[in-house]
Amino acid sequence: MLAMIFCAFFSWTMVILSILSVWLTLKKGANHLKQLHEIPCHNCEFFTNDYRLKCTVNPVEACSEQAIGCREFEPKTCNCNASQKGRRKLG
Ligand code: SF4
Repeated sequence: MLAMIFCAFFSWTMVILSILSVWLTLKKGANHLKQLHEIPCHNCEFFTNDYRLKCTVNPVEACSEQAIGCREFEPKTCNCNASQKGRRKLG
């Protein structure tokens, strides 16, 4: 009888710890995703939309967590490079 109680207690402990682990992982992932959405580069005038040179001002920090709060951030206009995707020069 004592062994049965111990096994039940151990099993429920494992289930609860597993659920807690999944919940903590999801919470950590959600926080990281929220932080990544704070990266302003996709709305910046200096973002080139080219993987070879992502930013003409801060190429190392561009599109990374270091770009959060970037002092050179300039709101994108319709004439910037990032808006030129798919357009080709004539001639
Ligand atoms: S200037 Fe700053 S915010 Fe703009 S693209 Fe470069 S790193 Fe990102």
